[in-house]
Amino acid sequence: MIFIFNHTALIILKAASVDLEPGYVLALFFFIGLLVFRAYVQYQKELSQELGADVSDYELKDVHRIRQSADEILNTKNSYYARLSSEGKVKFQKRLQGVLANKTFYAKEGLKLTDEMTVLAASAFVQISFGLSRGILMEFDKIYIYPDLFFNKLLDRNLKGSTSPLGIIRFSWKHLEHGFARDDDGINLALHELAHAFKITVETDDSMDVGIFDALKDLQIIGGEVRSQVLKGKTEVLRKYAAVNDHEFFACAVEVFFENPEELKADQPKLFSALINVLEQDPSNRIDDYAAPEVRRKFNFKHEIAIKPDGHYSFMQWMMVIGLVIILVPIFMIKLHADSSPVPTLLFVITVLTLGVIRYYRKLVVSGYTSPGIFIVFLLLGWFPLIGGPALVMNFLIPVYSTTEYVAIKNADYIGDHEYEAIPIDADDAHYVIDGNVYGEIKKCNGHCLLEVRSHYGVFGLEVIDDYSVIQVSEKDSSYTPMQ
Ligand SMILES: [Zn+2]
Repeated sequence: MIFIFNHTALIILKAASVDLEPGYVLALFFFIGLLVFRAYVQYQKELSQELGADVSDYELKDVHRIRQSADEILNTKNSYYARLSSEGKVKFQKRLQGVLANKTFYAKEGLKLTDEMTVLAASAFVQISFGLSRGILMEFDKIYIYPDLFFNKLLDRNLKGSTSPLGIIRFSWKHLEHGFARDDDGINLALHELAHAFKITVETDDSMDVGIFDALKDLQIIGGEVRSQVLKGKTEVLRKYAAVNDHEFFACAVEVFFENPEELKADQPKLFSALINVLEQDPSNRIDDYAAPEVRRKFNFKHEIAIKPDGHYSFMQWMMVIGLVIILVPIFMIKLHADSSPVPTLLFVITVLTLGVIRYYRKLVVSGYTSPGIFIVFLLLGWFPLIGGPALVMNFLIPVYSTTEYVAIKNADYIGDHEYEAIPIDADDAHYVIDGNVYGEIKKCNGHCLLEVRSHYGVFGLEVIDDYSVIQVSEKDSSYTPMQ
């Protein structure tokens, strides 16, 4: 085995020493490129945090143009904005720019799009998520604005607004404007549609804060009771339409929450505080930028996870170590037998340094820099795909023996970069990176789950996880629960 690798490496290194005499220059370019890329990623990250938005489609010139007029438009058209302090307005404007930069607005049926339309529609996005630490609803990026009611083929009737889980929100401009103009009748089309978008996001987007998910669940329980009051005519603070279903209830409650907070608080105090918990703002607190009294979230694992040892990366790390060892042997063999150019050695040192940084600088690993950017690093250097790659494939394909383990799981969380993690009850257990389906099943069984982990050890002795499945355990069944 080693002989084959040795031979392959020898040929590559020989070729490299002949042709890549300017290898020093290449290496230098590579490092400069890496630094520039790193700085660019950091810049994007900071920009996006500042705007409370993902700024991948940031069109600076348009946003600058609108910024001039947005303050004036909102001061006259959106009373929520008008009541903010000057610091609150600055925060609102920043987020508004992020929303404007990330949405595409389409004027339909002959309507001519104006700044007033885009700014007012975008302001609803900022308003509903103003209390949260960052703007959300990024999935909803297509906004269709119609002059008046518009026909929906699927429902076979005219609508004022609609929200599609595919990320499209439609508004009748006439009704959107009216919703903001009359700010105390408990009806606001834009906030209604965005409440739909918000609920859809929290329920389907696994990158959302778990705390919001739980707060929304609590609200739903309270909502069931309130809905029956609405049906029986026992409360009038919410309109009848709120009783239709869970989604309409939330949307109508959000409208009243923003437009008649005092009445809602007096009539339905439990619902009001549940809404504060979900949206982390209190619209009745008009002197203090709608600050919520306190954050009453039960838990939020996100921050905790960031500082836990990243055990679930060990497979990847082992791959790197083995890959390096496999590279190391032929290099020394060549060094013993041939006095070649220093370029291969330099490239090798660069490889080791780069991988070392990736391996040991945990922030890089935890924040998801490992893929696919790191693969590009490997590709650029050429070592890993050529030599380490086949070894890993062989390890994967040739099993030596298989195992099945059961781990008691207390919860699951999104850890970034489209990855989820199952959190074992026993803190000493390794952490498991799972897919969205497994994550959904763990969420369903409320902390009474067993994760079945099927894996095999390959020919190089590395563990390969084949599959996960979730087994629900009854609350009484403590045989899998470790001692406290
Ligand atoms: Zn609705």
